[in-house]
Amino acid sequence: MDLYADPAFAMAAEQFRLIADYLNIDDSMRARMLQPKRSVIVTLPIRRDNGHVETFQGYRVQHHLTMGPTKGGTRFHPGVTLGEVTALAIWMSWKCALTGLPYGGAKGGVTVDTRTLSTRELEAVSRRYMQEMIPFIGERTDVMGPDMGTNEQVMAWFMDTYSINTGFTVPGIVTGKPVSVGGTTGRREATGRGVVYLIERALDLLKMQPDRCTAVIQGFGNVGAVAAQGLAFKDGMKVIGISDHTGAFYRKDGIDIAAAEKWTREHNGVLAGFTEADPISPDDLLTLECDVLVPAALEAVITEKNAARLRCRILAEGANGPTTPAADQILFSRWNEVFVIPDILCNAGGVIVSYFEWVQGLQQMFWTETEVTDRLFRILETAFQAVIKRAKSAKLPHRMAAMAIGVERVLAAKMARGLFP
Ligand code: GLU
Repeated sequence: MDLYADPAFAMAAEQFRLIADYLNIDDSMRARMLQPKRSVIVTLPIRRDNGHVETFQGYRVQHHLTMGPTKGGTRFHPGVTLGEVTALAIWMSWKCALTGLPYGGAKGGVTVDTRTLSTRELEAVSRRYMQEMIPFIGERTDVMGPDMGTNEQVMAWFMDTYSINTGFTVPGIVTGKPVSVGGTTGRREATGRGVVYLIERALDLLKMQPDRCTAVIQGFGNVGAVAAQGLAFKDGMKVIGISDHTGAFYRKDGIDIAAAEKWTREHNGVLAGFTEADPISPDDLLTLECDVLVPAALEAVITEKNAARLRCRILAEGANGPTTPAADQILFSRWNEVFVIPDILCNAGGVIVSYFEWVQGLQQMFWTETEVTDRLFRILETAFQAVIKRAKSAKLPHRMAAMAIGVERVLAAKMARGLFP
């Protein structure tokens, strides 16, 4: 499928092929399961602050609509391509099915470096993107959410643009909104909290004590920073390595996470120049000896080049697609040394709480943060148990077990609904 040619798409396709072989999925079903139902490409002309008009490319991929609306975030990043967005949409499908959410997967994005935009320009890109997508989405068709490079403010602009067009407020069109306009408590922290919860469950299984453990976290955004906080402040773990796209830092005795956060708040949101730890190369960060390694940034950072050299006991995938299929093979041969919490389980907290937000928006009845967090942990616990049980009984790597559960559910739904006409 040249249309989607991209390294991330190749990863998603290869992971699916392995599962389809394992589950003996009929050839006639494979393309139907993998290829997106709809892919929309839009051009966004934006007037820059200097008066020039610049065009940006935007995408939205709706992977399957078999079990309800599609659901997924919107990424603003210079590396966004149709193929990457498609891979991310496919991963959302398996993630939603694994956690029992009534959704297919979706993802969208704009190829843009938000650091080069003023606030007004960011608003223009956000609103124009939503405007162009209005014919293709809806609270029962496709529900947007946040992803890398977008935040609550962007979600509020999305909701406002959609609602102005409709003539009334439509909170269910997008999740990750500010609480003041129908967002849910606990959404901002949800992904990171979920990552921490699952790490605690894995430590428990491995009979390791959190306050005697060390952690390394790659990515210090909405997922990585919240996970770092939870591991450090709640579990008493020593976070010895952190990084973002501007720099990586190491401190043997543990990094003061509150100081790192203060630093990013005071330095345009980035870690560059952080003085309370030693700079280290981003590659070396991943192979530091530690108990818990959390990749929480982009795809394909654990590859065949470093998988054999990872020195973590637990690999908790906060990012989507951080591990390539080639690295997976190496990690599976090391299953006794590295306990993998696969992405579609590990980072599912975000979309689970997005689902809660959508439900609250449709019902116009709102929950407390305790209700949100309790229900989040219950869903994660069920999915975690299911993955561990399947991996044990079928002697499968954790990713294969998680995917098998997700893919089987989508397959069963497609078979039950049948082909029309
Ligand atoms: N971007 C998040 C993810 O990759 C979730 C998006 C959403 O809340 O819809 O899982």
